[in-house]
Amino acid sequence: DYEVLPLPKPDTMFELLARFDKDTDPRKVNLAPGAYRDDNGLIWLLPSVKAATAAIISLPTYEHQYLGIQGHVPFLRQAARLILGDVAVETGHIASLQTSGGTGACHTGAVFLKKFHDVGGDVDVFISNPSWENHHAVFQHADFVTRSYRCYNAKTRSLDFAGMKADVDTARRGSIFVLHVCAHNPTGCDPTDEQWDELSRIFKRKGLYAFLDCAYQGFATGDLVRDKYAVEAFLREGVDMVVAQSFSKIAGLYGERLGALHIPCRSEFAKVRVVEQLKAINRREVSVAPRFGADIMYHVLSDEALKSQWISEVKIMSDRLSDMRRRLVAELQRLNTSCNWEHITKQRGMFSYTGLTAEQSRYMTDECHAYMPPSGRLSVTGLTTSNVEYVARCMDHVVRH
Ligand code: PMP
Repeated sequence: DYEVLPLPKPDTMFELLARFDKDTDPRKVNLAPGAYRDDNGLIWLLPSVKAATAAIISLPTYEHQYLGIQGHVPFLRQAARLILGDVAVETGHIASLQTSGGTGACHTGAVFLKKFHDVGGDVDVFISNPSWENHHAVFQHADFVTRSYRCYNAKTRSLDFAGMKADVDTARRGSIFVLHVCAHNPTGCDPTDEQWDELSRIFKRKGLYAFLDCAYQGFATGDLVRDKYAVEAFLREGVDMVVAQSFSKIAGLYGERLGALHIPCRSEFAKVRVVEQLKAINRREVSVAPRFGADIMYHVLSDEALKSQWISEVKIMSDRLSDMRRRLVAELQRLNTSCNWEHITKQRGMFSYTGLTAEQSRYMTDECHAYMPPSGRLSVTGLTTSNVEYVARCMDHVVRH
């Protein structure tokens, strides 16, 4: 009798956006988009991706055939180069699987670890507090008990590195830590390179497992190579890890569901086994990953000219986000708001933890029609040259009242 089924907890972000869509006020601003918007508030179809798509669909032989169970293997190799680097791909033993976006990579990584990460006892998964709101659910769905580790200091509105380090240092051997490679969602606060070095040494010493989730490579500094420093540091230390990679934001391929899971192995022998197990999981769950996005991105990544065009387009997105942060803070300073807003320019990537309280965020949403979640997370991509002044005035208003 399905009538007795409880309703699951609604997804707060999707609920908020549904309210935004219904709002008819001309001043309304969406400060919570999950997809990159340009300065006109529109989803940006990257010209490199558009060109690759046109090239693919004009092929007379394009036939929408199934991929193999592992996915688009040449694409996976290019994807691994991007996040793990050329050396790791040439000399290492990387087991890769194409997944349904970054969420699929997190899910399949979780299922794989539940089956095979055997440390002779219970293993907990540690998620940053706060984190992407789906992390706990995805790992719990794979039957893990999830816990939290500190990563954010609400007073300084910056990384709580001491707290993070202490939580890592006291975790049981074999524990899995889900780490945001860059552009932390939702705080925008990342460890520095030196802090990643330090963390990777603790992981190695304590026998911890790094689950490196990367949905925004290039969005933090505008440079895809610099943004993967965390992965480099953990690789260098030889920490056991998986990498979950998403192409949703960085290629604007949201609905195509393009992602990859990479697991560096110690030998070719181990890699073959890991790949076969990943394929077995995939076959049972979805059979094969979707093809179109992989064809498009392979075309971009394997063509030198298109690839460098795409790299510069990632920088355009990252630069616009930094620019909007600066403009918002400049507007707030112009209004002489009593608070210090410099954290907004120090945080990086698509999100900023503004420090607005749940009540202030509700006021922004209900009274100012500037929609943001109760956490006070600002999706910086919702800002444009035409609304940034209005948003600053709203923020000024809520902190004064
Ligand atoms: N991890 C993080 C940290 C994210 O922010 C997101 C998406 N917002 C994902 C994973 C999932 O990405 P995808 O949309 O590709 O499933």
